[in-house]
Order: sequence, then structure tokens, then C-alpha cells
Amino acid sequence: MGEDLGNLKRSCYCGDVRREQIGEEVTLMGWVNRRRDLGGVVFIDLRDREGIVQVVFNPAFNLQAHQKASALRNEYVIAVKGKVIDRPQGTENPDLKTGQLEVQAGELIILSESNPVPFAIDEEAEVAESLRLKYRYLDLRRAKMQRNLMLRDRAAQSVRSYLHHQGFLEIETPFLTKSTPEGARDYLVPSRVNPGQFYALPQSPQLFKQLLMIAGFDRYFQLVKCFRDEDLRADRQPEFTQIDIEMSFIDREDVYAIMEGMMKKLFQDTLGLSLATPFPRLTYEESMARYGADNPDVRFGLEMTDVSKALGNTTFKVFADTLQRGGIVKALKVQKDFSRKDLDDLNEFSRELGAKGLAWLRVGPEGWPNISGPLAKFMTEEERLALGIALNPGPGEILLFMADSPKAVNDLMGRVRLHLGKKLNLIPPGLFQFVWITDFPLLDYDEAEGRYTAKHHPFTSPMDEDLPLLATDPAQVRAKAYDLVLNGSEVGGGSLRIYRREVQSLLFSKLGIGEAEAKEKFGFLLEALEYGAPPHGGIAFGFDRLVMILAGAESIRDVIAFPKTQKATDPMTEAPSAVDSRQLAELSLRVMVPK
Ligand code: ASP
Repeated sequence: MGEDLGNLKRSCYCGDVRREQIGEEVTLMGWVNRRRDLGGVVFIDLRDREGIVQVVFNPAFNLQAHQKASALRNEYVIAVKGKVIDRPQGTENPDLKTGQLEVQAGELIILSESNPVPFAIDEEAEVAESLRLKYRYLDLRRAKMQRNLMLRDRAAQSVRSYLHHQGFLEIETPFLTKSTPEGARDYLVPSRVNPGQFYALPQSPQLFKQLLMIAGFDRYFQLVKCFRDEDLRADRQPEFTQIDIEMSFIDREDVYAIMEGMMKKLFQDTLGLSLATPFPRLTYEESMARYGADNPDVRFGLEMTDVSKALGNTTFKVFADTLQRGGIVKALKVQKDFSRKDLDDLNEFSRELGAKGLAWLRVGPEGWPNISGPLAKFMTEEERLALGIALNPGPGEILLFMADSPKAVNDLMGRVRLHLGKKLNLIPPGLFQFVWITDFPLLDYDEAEGRYTAKHHPFTSPMDEDLPLLATDPAQVRAKAYDLVLNGSEVGGGSLRIYRREVQSLLFSKLGIGEAEAKEKFGFLLEALEYGAPPHGGIAFGFDRLVMILAGAESIRDVIAFPKTQKATDPMTEAPSAVDSRQLAELSLRVMVPK
């Protein structure tokens, strides 16, 4: 049983008690982080969100408080009134903000007791995530999680303040809405009053923000929840937060400049870091060629080179066959002499990723074209010359080669590159390296379905000069789309939008969406485009992922107060769960339980 607070008022946070307050009386409230009973004197580490302060219960100072303190256990909630004093010399704790002082307790109120906790709050020790999520309110008491969520708050404040100063209005858009295509499955909500009909939770506010532009608000933003029913990968969540942005009468350069300003302020406000702007840019094509990915980690070099031409006449069968089938050969030049075992391990690693293998050449101490390794005997003079020009290899360097379809080589060689970046410590610690990826293709060809799909989404504008290609060679059409990549993670993406009805209809038809279907799904947008739509475009950032990077966290679940597991469940509330038959009947639903 706890006592009442009475009219006691907290005077400051535990973690905020300062030396200037020595001699003053303070009233603190918080959780017992740890209790030490040293015979005569009881010490309590008292914790709140701002930190820890040491409280001393000394019978010589107040006998009653001292007696009561012996009942305290970890995680009890208490209020303490006492005097701030200097810590005796030699007992200071340099790890604590309050390490120079302590509070001598004159009065103790036990507000709430606690059961023994299922894991230690005051230690960084690893705890199984399922247990952390079941007792999330306890997990959130831990210092790291408190820091992460406080950082998240600072990040949100920074973004809001920047955007407001840039004239953006925060406008909410509905959650109960119609499906918007961002490429994932929808979460559906049955409508009770419209039996048999469903709302979709928004995968993003894409269409609403475009409608807000048509409505004349010209600069919109929202920190907004989005819902995507995907098979969850490591850093995905079924509901996640976007910084969603849209603006009118702008071009791509405006988007880049405004967003760079936002990132600059965000890093200044949260980490005190001053980012250099403008951020570098790579076209999609360059990024794929040099890094094999559209989310390149440009903190280190180790770029790949396409050597298909240099090896065009190769007699090495694996390469020759691949090239003949329309595949490519790419090479990575590693400035490090690997042992035979290193090379075997690397080959094995690539096979585990799904590659057919890595071939290699070692450059001798005399330099190129003095080479050894299994490929060396296949290299004609002509090829040595061509490879020398393409790769400029130095003495003692290793050349790695992979041959396959362009898609497979880019993906797998890209992953080998990232692996080597880590293994060889090529990534400078503490570096935040942004890069814009621009000029994405408008369309992707879906082999399985035999049709084109939108690479970004179907409202993305093609490049004006590529528009004629839409009829003749759709795969070559580039889009006014861009992504912002940070340290190898895509943190944001957007585009300038189509604002002409006829272009939108043309694109829908290329995507195999007929007039009737377009009307049914996006009729409201098509109609709105006929009532004076301004040129507009925007971007959305994955806020959770950004905060995760700022916090140096391993998982986005560590920067979300109440996340879901990889199986989209919440071990604390036990959602999702069955509902009773009355609720189902009200919604005109019947559950087909799998046999
Ligand atoms: N709605 C898009 C997304 O969520 C972003 C954008 O185009 O602004 O990916």
C-alpha cells in the first residue's frame, strides 16, 4: 500500500540537481534504482527521466526516514524531501551528472511499491526482446530507452519548427480511408454502418497531400502514422511514422535545398553536428553501376567496375557463357592482400548469399600485369591490357570478379562490397554521409505478371523529355523521382507529381489500369486534376529509421515506444486477438478458421 502525496510538490528532476543548490532543500520524486544498506546508513539511487541522484538516509539526521528506508526495494516509487549536500571527499561519482553531491533525506513518502522486476532496469545487460516487449513499460524505464525516446522527441520538435519556419502547415489526413498504392498490402477496417464495405488504413497520405496542393495550401507536412501489411523485415513495422511533405510551384532543386536544410537543423538540434550541404548526388544509373544498389553506402570507396567489355573475348567458360546470355562481369579491387583462406571464406560468403561464386586475381609485387590466381592462365595479353586500363590495379591488390545477370551481380556484389567495408574497417566511425539518388526509372517490369509497375508510385511525373518514350520504350523513361540515402539506408523518397489529367491517364494505361479501374480507385484524384492543379511534388522520410540512426540504435523497435514483434504482434497487450461473435455479427463478418 502506498501513501498519498498530500500537498507535496516536486521541486526538480533527480537528474537535474546541481551543485549550485548545495545547502538548499529539494523535493524529489522517482523510482528506487538501487538501495545499499551500509549498516548505519542507507543509500538510495533515485531515478527519473533526467537521471539519477544519490539520497542518503542517515539516522543522525532523521531517524524516522532512516527506519522507513529499510523497507525500500528496487522500483518503489518515492518522494523525498531533503537537503543538497556535498559528497564526502573520495566518494564522488564522475559517471553521474549529480556525482558531486547527494541529498540528505529528511522526509520519505513511499508512494508505490513494486513487485520484483523480471529484468534489471539499472543495467545494460541483454534481455530477450520478447520479455522486454511484454513488460515494455519497465523496459522503457531503462536509461537507453529513455534517451532514445527523448531524442525522438527532440527530432520531432526540430523538424516541426524547421518546417513551420519555412511556411509549411501541419494538416491531418484521415486514417479511415481508401486504399493508396505504395506497393504493400492494406490493413482493412470493416464498416459497421456499411455492411460488407471496408476502409483501408493509409499506406501513406499520398493522395490527400496532393489534394491539399490542389486545395491551395501549397506547403504541407505531417508527422503521420502509415500502415503497411508487409512480411516484416528487420527494420520494418506494420505501423510506422513518416515526415510527410508536399509543396507546390517548385522544382527538384527546391526539394533538395529545403530538405537539406531540414537535415542540417535536425543533426544540429539532436547531435550538435554541423552537416556539410549540399549533399552529393548520384543518378540511379551511376549508383547501380558503382555500388550495385540504389541505397549506396558512400562512406567508403571500394566501388565496382563493369569489366564485361574488357573480358568480351574471354576463354574462361563461366564468364564467356554468362556474357553470351546477356549477363555481365563486375570487378572489385581490394587494396589488401588476402590469404588463400580469406579468399575461400569470401567465396563461401558469396555463395551463401546466392552467388555462383567469386573468381579472383592477385597482383604480384612487381605490379600489373604480373598476376596469379586461378583466373590468371585465361588472361590474354589483350585482356591484361584492357583490365589494367579499367581497374588500374596496384602491387599486392586483389581483384574479385562476379558473373551473372546484371540484377544478380549488382545485388550480390553490392553485398560483398558492404561485407568487405565492415570486415576491412573501411567505414569511418561517427560519419553521417548523405547522398541523393536521382533520375530513377519511372517503371519496373514485373516478369511474373508480364506488365509494368510504377517504381515509386503511379503519381510520379515522368521527365518531360522522356515522355515520348512512354509509347515506344517505357523501360527507358526516367522519373522526376529522388531518394535520400544516409549511410547506406534509404531514409526518404519522393517525386514531382503528375498534375495533368491526360498524363495521369496515359500512365495508368501503361500500368495496365484501365479507365474503369482508374475511375473506381482514383476517380476523385482524376477529377480533382481537372479543377486547377498546381505543379507540385514532395517527399516522405521514415522518421523511425532516421531516429534509429541518430540514436545509434540497432533496430527501429528501440526508438518506438510500443512496437510490434517481427510477427506483427504485441506481447504486452496481446494484440491481435480474437473478438467475440457479437462484434463480428455487428460488422457482418464471419471468421473462416483454418482447419
Ligand atoms: N508517399 C510516398 C511514400 O510513402 C512518398 C512521396 O512520394 O512523397 O513512399
